[in-house]
Amino acid sequence: MKENIQDAMRSIPSMDKMLSMPWVSQYQAEIGRESVKFIISEVLEDQRKKIFKNPSSVFDIEEISFEAEKRLKVRAYRSLRPVVNATGVVLHTNLGRSLLAKEAIDAVCSVAESYSTLEYSPQSGSRGYRNDHVEWLLCRLTGAEAAIVVNNNAGAVILSLAGLVKGKESIISRGELVEIGGSFRIPEIMAFSGTRMVEVGTTNMTHLYDYENALSEETGMILKVHPSNFSLQGFTSSVSREDLAKLAHDQKVIFMEDLGSGMLIETDSSFLKGDFTVKACIEAGVDLVTFSGDKLLGGPQIGVIAGSGELIDKLRKHPLLRALRVDKMTFAAFEATLRLYLKGRTEEIPTFSMLNRDPDDMKRQAVKFKKKLLDLFGKTRLSAVYLDVVLVKDTVGGGSFPGSELPGYAVSLKLPEMGSSGKLSEKLRLLTIPVIAGVSDDKILFHVRTLSEKDEKAILNGFKEMFSLNKEKA
Ligand SMILES: *Cc1c(COP(=O)(O)O)cnc(C)c1O
Repeated sequence: MKENIQDAMRSIPSMDKMLSMPWVSQYQAEIGRESVKFIISEVLEDQRKKIFKNPSSVFDIEEISFEAEKRLKVRAYRSLRPVVNATGVVLHTNLGRSLLAKEAIDAVCSVAESYSTLEYSPQSGSRGYRNDHVEWLLCRLTGAEAAIVVNNNAGAVILSLAGLVKGKESIISRGELVEIGGSFRIPEIMAFSGTRMVEVGTTNMTHLYDYENALSEETGMILKVHPSNFSLQGFTSSVSREDLAKLAHDQKVIFMEDLGSGMLIETDSSFLKGDFTVKACIEAGVDLVTFSGDKLLGGPQIGVIAGSGELIDKLRKHPLLRALRVDKMTFAAFEATLRLYLKGRTEEIPTFSMLNRDPDDMKRQAVKFKKKLLDLFGKTRLSAVYLDVVLVKDTVGGGSFPGSELPGYAVSLKLPEMGSSGKLSEKLRLLTIPVIAGVSDDKILFHVRTLSEKDEKAILNGFKEMFSLNKEKA
């Protein structure tokens, strides 16, 4: 037994032998010799463990090389890279939520490659404030007196609570104690910020008298949270912003709303109606509104606190603001996006235009794309190709407009010779530019709402890669 193990161990090649294999050098160029050695030694170590567990396992150089190369590939190429979103989910959280407008991308590049006015005022020749680049724009677009930005909406809520009502009570409806994406849970955020949560009402019904009864000397805030990622149906009731604002102001406590998505203007889509633009909240008497810069707004990931100048002045001096501050590239993207709103050029904001897409236009796109796919599959040896233009339900995503469905179009595809649609969707995910598509009824669905021309080319090239046909430049 022991000899078996020793024999098997001896069969493991040396590091030098591994490093001298011809396929190794390309990885050295990508991540350096030391990192290549590190990964190969992990593979060899795993092999040693395997032999220890099962001395009769034979060492196979092909197998080892395959495993080493697989791991090297994962580490050698950029990990954060573009994918094609063919899911029809506009604000796909896992795929990076909003795409930036061209103007916003140009603004990012220009401050990335030059020194900038980040904290400098050319007018006075002295220090400026990074927040100044967007505050006036935000006030114009929302009707707020003042606004500050932090790195995301979760940060905006934490800063507001910690800076204004730490040690005091905050009243919130039980219907609004939500969890948004894993680690953002309202009760925990409130506890962390040091405010004492006072829950009122029930899951489905909260009345004005519930809030009235909970008010005390200790109350610092009435907090309203937008139930972004679910909808309550049936026997429900909540209290209007106007009524809560009146109550809060009579009692001299702050009324804050965590709106989540930063909708600045209403979309044209009749499927996405509601009264939750930031401006509508401010007009209804909310003192502070917190919202995200990418969900619905269509800018970079950022969090905004907008509303009362007096309250925001208090937050400007809070040490947490420094910890949550935003970098110059994000500011550049945000300012450029806000300027597009001010100019009325919202159709140039991808999130906005994807939400507003005309069904006839999507149908035309799907018909054309289907034809391109058909042409391409004609060049393969496949004998059975099923392609169709179908009606689908797209969604907003990103925890915005839960339950809302946007009618859209997709090209459906079935290639029985390529295995099940689950198998084909895996092949699409593993392409050089991964294609993330929908799957339904054993068919692949390419939702066209979220597909640009460039994305369509990437899908066509992806199939060429799959079938080893000649690729054309995207
Ligand atoms: C999305 C959302 C958040 C979290 O926003 P991030 O920008 O992801 O930090 C908080 N509250 C509500 C109501 C939301 O919808």
